[in-house]
Amino acid sequence: MYADIIIDITHEKLDKVFQYIVPEELKELLEVGMEVVVPFGRGNHETRGYVVGFSGKADYEADRMKEILRVEEKSIAIESKLVKLAAWMKESYGGTMIQSLKTVLPIKRKEQEAKKRTIRCILSEEEGKRKLEYYLGKNQKARARLLAALLDDGELDYGLVTKKLHVTASVIRALEEQGVLKVESERIFRNPFIEKSDKKNDFEYTKGQKDAIETFTEDYDEGRYRTYLVHGITGSGKTEVYMEMIAHVVAQGRQAIVLIPEIALTYQTVMRFYRRFGERVSILNSRMSAGERFDQMQRAKMGEIDVMIGPRSALFTTFPDLGLIVIDEEHEGTYKSEQTPRYHARETAVKRAELEHASVVLGSATPSLESYYRCEKKEYVLLKLTERAGSGAVLADVHIADMREELAKGNRSIFSDLLKEKIRERLDKKEQIMLFINRRGYAGFISCRSCGYVVKCPHCDVSMSVHNNGKMVCHYCGHEEKVIRKCPKCGSSHVGGFKAGTQQIESLIKKEFPTAGVLRMDMDTTRAKDGYENILSSFANGEADILIGTQMIVKGHDFPAVTLVGVLAADMSLNVGDYRSSERTFQLLTQAGGRAGRGERHGEAVIQTYSPDHYSIVNASRQDYAAFYQEEMAFRKLMGYPPAEHLLAVLMMGKDEKHLDMAADYLKEYVDRFCGEKLQVIGPATPYVSKVSDVYRKILYLKSEEYDMLVKIKNYMEKYIEINSGYKTLKIQFDFDPMSVF
Ligand code: ADP
Ligand code: ZN
Ligand code: ZN
Repeated sequence: MYADIIIDITHEKLDKVFQYIVPEELKELLEVGMEVVVPFGRGNHETRGYVVGFSGKADYEADRMKEILRVEEKSIAIESKLVKLAAWMKESYGGTMIQSLKTVLPIKRKEQEAKKRTIRCILSEEEGKRKLEYYLGKNQKARARLLAALLDDGELDYGLVTKKLHVTASVIRALEEQGVLKVESERIFRNPFIEKSDKKNDFEYTKGQKDAIETFTEDYDEGRYRTYLVHGITGSGKTEVYMEMIAHVVAQGRQAIVLIPEIALTYQTVMRFYRRFGERVSILNSRMSAGERFDQMQRAKMGEIDVMIGPRSALFTTFPDLGLIVIDEEHEGTYKSEQTPRYHARETAVKRAELEHASVVLGSATPSLESYYRCEKKEYVLLKLTERAGSGAVLADVHIADMREELAKGNRSIFSDLLKEKIRERLDKKEQIMLFINRRGYAGFISCRSCGYVVKCPHCDVSMSVHNNGKMVCHYCGHEEKVIRKCPKCGSSHVGGFKAGTQQIESLIKKEFPTAGVLRMDMDTTRAKDGYENILSSFANGEADILIGTQMIVKGHDFPAVTLVGVLAADMSLNVGDYRSSERTFQLLTQAGGRAGRGERHGEAVIQTYSPDHYSIVNASRQDYAAFYQEEMAFRKLMGYPPAEHLLAVLMMGKDEKHLDMAADYLKEYVDRFCGEKLQVIGPATPYVSKVSDVYRKILYLKSEEYDMLVKIKNYMEKYIEINSGYKTLKIQFDFDPMSVF
């Protein structure tokens, strides 16, 4: 027996794995992840390494190979746990061990490291307040916003100011020239002005909050490390609950990871954590260089911080004694990695917690079907926050505009009369408006504008997509039909693909409301450097009345002056030929409702749709999660989609189309032999994007009630692919329970 050992796990060339002989006495004992001592190099220096895998055959002459000396007995190495986690990820999601290790371990790279920049207020409090009055008087909103934040907190991270407070670099420069602030590089971000306040909140927790905290702490103190789902609308006090749980864990000398989707990691949220946990908090973000990231991981490892906040990859923070992982907005698609291994942060967090005896707390206003289903099956513990906490959150009134009726009335514009009326009202009152088209991906579906009928695949119950070749195609099974010209239900000829871009909407709005200030956020306007920040900054400054955009404007941004949100085509995300489209629509619409009226002012939302009776739209307008869940889960069970069953997508890519087709057919034939009650094979089908830069794509779906079954078949396929030379020129990726179908 031979073991693969990596010696220096901080090295960029993690791929350098050395094979060692496993001595007889270690054969029973050795496990992946274990820290071992081996002779290394010419001088055979005793060196530590980690076991990352085993094999039965030697990669080179066995008599020249060295033996492992011993297992590092008292190893508590953090890395050892992460190597174990990597092995689980490799097994559960496919790919190589190296790919998994690179995902999980912090890697040091030699590179010019970007300097950390900090903004510090250099005015006295009195001078600062006077200056703030002045800016407010002159209506210089960005300057006022920045100064107000500095007066609160003294010192701020540069990136935080530009990205989260929506203040541009030129504003910062102007204030620096006026002697208001100083931008300092080199210093490590510290917040000397933030006193860590252990003092109790000046409010009473709601009953829901109390129960949630109590359930968690009781379990935790008795060593029951479980997974919890906190279900509560925005403003129901979830973040307070997380912070209380974190404080409990930290008080016992353990650490916590908080995952928040980057886009939802607002300035306000970050500051709340700083205020509560002071300097013992650190933030990761995706713009950090590998070096900065590595430094953060070192700090975590040395015990300098207790709480790490960040997006998906913060899950792998090298804490010595991890006690809790919080995942906020757990339903977000960004928690699934799009690179091999295509891991889901939620599942991986549960696994990491299991390996380290830690708890997991998930939170959302619109939980994923997966998590809610696990609560039903008593695998997770459901913690409900039903009361509204504090004063900030009042649910918006949501109106549904039936676009079929508008057409019948003779209104052919893309705005319903109701939406137009509400926009006019807001413009008169000088309140802000967000309009978004619920658009995702590329696929156009075909629907009838008279009756709302949507063409669906006769085999799959998902909508057919229009391809450029004049055909409608099902992305699941490859079923094709010619594009229809007449509605099969009502006979109307108003059938076609729904296509409306943000640009088109902008010009229509300008025509309808010539005096309104309009900003547009899409691929075109955000391409320029800082384009994204500049648009949000102008909107926050009140330089425009209306912001038009896609989903990206809906998530995570707090604009207190927005009191109306319009969803122009709710059906867009409903009919994208994807089994998760109803879920995504429900989430988006619920969030859109939550966007309006976050300040003291009451908000409204108007949802325009051709399918006003669809359960995702009806239930989103009523903010009724439970009802939505019931219907959606029934659909998933009926069709055997996750989480009722599991789906494995095998994506195959190659330059030679004929060869790819053949290889795909052979692979299908190979897996067909495992077909039976427990496994179903669908395809190979051509994905909507059938070719990318001259590389053709094919996809195979495997469906089973048992995840382990799919893992087993994946392992067989990996072997089959490895030994058959026909697959050498192809790239093959596995995606378990994919976030969307191709
Ligand atoms: P969520 O994370 O669910 O959106 P938060 O924890 O951010 O909710 O709470 C929303 C607001 O209400 C915050 O300003 C918070 O400080 C405040 N808050 C939370 N719990 C209470 C409570 N029990 N009483 C009063 N205010 C509260
Ligand atoms: Zn189909
Ligand atoms: Zn029709």
